[in-house]
Amino acid sequence: MILVLQQNNSSEEIQTLMDRLRELGLDGRVIQNANRTLIIVEGEIAPDHCGLLENDPAVELVVPTVDQPLPSRQPRGGETRQVLLRPGGFAIGGPKVGVIAGPCSVEDRSLLLEIAHAVKEAGAIGLRGGAFKPRTNPYSFQGLGERALEFLAEAREQTGLAIVTEVMSEDQAPLVARYADLLQVGTRNMHNFNLLSAVGRTGKPVLLKRGWSATLEELLLAAEYITSEGDSDVILCERGIRTFESYVRNTLALAVVPAIKQRSSLPILVDPSHGVGVANLVAPMCKAAIACGADGLLVEVHPRPEQALTDSSQTLSITQFQTLMEEVQRVAVAVGRD
Ligand code: PEP
Ligand code: MN
Repeated sequence: MILVLQQNNSSEEIQTLMDRLRELGLDGRVIQNANRTLIIVEGEIAPDHCGLLENDPAVELVVPTVDQPLPSRQPRGGETRQVLLRPGGFAIGGPKVGVIAGPCSVEDRSLLLEIAHAVKEAGAIGLRGGAFKPRTNPYSFQGLGERALEFLAEAREQTGLAIVTEVMSEDQAPLVARYADLLQVGTRNMHNFNLLSAVGRTGKPVLLKRGWSATLEELLLAAEYITSEGDSDVILCERGIRTFESYVRNTLALAVVPAIKQRSSLPILVDPSHGVGVANLVAPMCKAAIACGADGLLVEVHPRPEQALTDSSQTLSITQFQTLMEEVQRVAVAVGRD
């Protein structure tokens, strides 16, 4: 249910209405747009609530909505919504933990194919690789663009792995959606609301990375920009936040995983590569992520990490990745996952 408020309500009148919602066992989110204030009502809406709220002096109109709780708020008795990834149909959020691995950036065709076959062999279900790279320094390698998307599509054909790659701008969304199976929105763009809407319109599943200074609440609201467009499913991703700590690149906030499970039905992956930024800390954090309930991992892998064009210090070698996969499998089984 949505309440359209009278124009010119004071903040006290809005607060009184919010208190009234709470008395009715409901909750509400206030949305302020240019000329109107709306309240999205959440909770168990009873048939008489509509009439009661219509008579409230602060309310101009009550708009009933289809009885469909918001995806980011719907714990469904603790159940996680499953997001199917093509081409294999792997269900992220199901009983199996899914690992998506690959280079930070797609660097060339044969290297990508080599990595794709190796991570597939080790048990990955998806291949990650940036075609359009969000670089801090404008003179650093920016990615191969559409050529990289073609290489990724070829890797999918050869291995059956789902392709995960970043979309950086609204106008790229239709292009990347033609190639990728899961569209990544990176940490720097979590607050880019036009981009969120644009990826939501593609109908492809979206991997939404947490902004490095975003709260959990802001992450869930960003997810709603995507799901409210219609057809796109969202998988959240914890990838570390910025703190004063300097022995790691970011601080991986693993508590967000169980917190998301308590508040939302959206599946969540953890990206320890960006979360710590140091290769020898990636495996322990992968294991911790699975232990605390993550639905999967995003891991950077390269046959020669020291030569990787981007994020080389946090990238695992193929051998390190194979060992990691054996270790996380044991943790997954220990916590009742597959
Ligand atoms: C990436 O996955 O390579 C990446 C750039 O991630 P993030 O947006 O989390 O920094
Ligand atoms: Mn990277």
